[in-house]
Amino acid sequence: MRDSFDRSIDYVRIAVTDRCNLRCFYCMPAKGIPHEPRAHLLSYEEIIRLLKVLGQLGFQKVRFTGGEPFLRKDFIKLLESTAEIEAYKSIHITSNGTLLQKHIPKLKQLGITKINLSIDSLDKERFHKITRRDDFDKVMQTFHLLVDNGFKIKLNAVIMKGINTQDIIPLAELAKDNPVDVRFIEEMPFNGGYKKNIEMYSARDIETDLKGHYPNLEKLPKKHGDTASLLSVPDYKGNIGVIAAFSRTFCNTCNRLRISSKGDIKSCLYDDGVFNIRDYMRAGVSDEQLAGKFLEIVRLKPKDGFEAEKMRKAPAAALQSMSSIGG
Ligand code: SAM
Ligand code: SF4
Repeated sequence: MRDSFDRSIDYVRIAVTDRCNLRCFYCMPAKGIPHEPRAHLLSYEEIIRLLKVLGQLGFQKVRFTGGEPFLRKDFIKLLESTAEIEAYKSIHITSNGTLLQKHIPKLKQLGITKINLSIDSLDKERFHKITRRDDFDKVMQTFHLLVDNGFKIKLNAVIMKGINTQDIIPLAELAKDNPVDVRFIEEMPFNGGYKKNIEMYSARDIETDLKGHYPNLEKLPKKHGDTASLLSVPDYKGNIGVIAAFSRTFCNTCNRLRISSKGDIKSCLYDDGVFNIRDYMRAGVSDEQLAGKFLEIVRLKPKDGFEAEKMRKAPAAALQSMSSIGG
């Protein structure tokens, strides 16, 4: 599927739940966010139906995210059913790593080996402060177990001024001996209304820190749909990425659609949901009608995140928590 800016759209990210067992302060308030009743969430049958229709339209990549995807009951069953759909060359998961250890053998068996793990600090206390939970040891253990089991890990760290900029180099150093991509993300104002004004530590600031520490840092070419500027340090096993999520410098290669846990389709992270596909399905439409709707949504995909933000019905200050969008 091509949008009106000739971008090939073949990647869907689905938030399977808006619930989470952590409370990362850049994502949601300490008390959490009001949860959708379970009946409002897309059922697994509905998700599989959507994936099949999208697969027929040329989608090849799916990522399950949340909230914390492993918190949803029987998440593994959804993965099993997805693995049976031929269209998806790769199935990806984004997780905070607190609940997935026991599922490693099953994930391996299903061939689901591409996992993004969120770790914002290598300092136990700072990790606790950021996530408001004391799970650092468990998450690091999961990280090492996944690496040892041959999973392809991308580590995501949101970098915030005055909070964890001192973690940039220690985190980047994980790429020295581990074949993992360590990616630094600009903070975005998706925190469930907790904090309105962000003092930005920009992608440029992050790159400056990296170049200061690694004088021989090399820029790697971008691949289809990459949001990260990829960098490499000679002889390091993994790469380093910087994601300008707030500066939005990667929109011209965007290849994705997002579906929230309650079925809101976002054709851009910065729009406020362009269509509710759950209600459409529950009204009894056919697969052809669903496919037609996706074609229309992709055709209308905005040029970039700034355009999408301008088109919002709700004010920018009402940007949701990332846990309902999926990141
Ligand atoms: N719970 C899982 C996790 O944390 O990886 C999956 C969902 S989480 C919403 C997906 C990604 O969004 C995480 O990498 C997280 O760091 C990122 N994220 C959440 N809020 C953000 C914000 N305000 N700015 C930038 N990234 C954010
Ligand atoms: Fe939970 Fe992920 Fe949001 Fe942290 S970023 S609160 S782990 S959904």
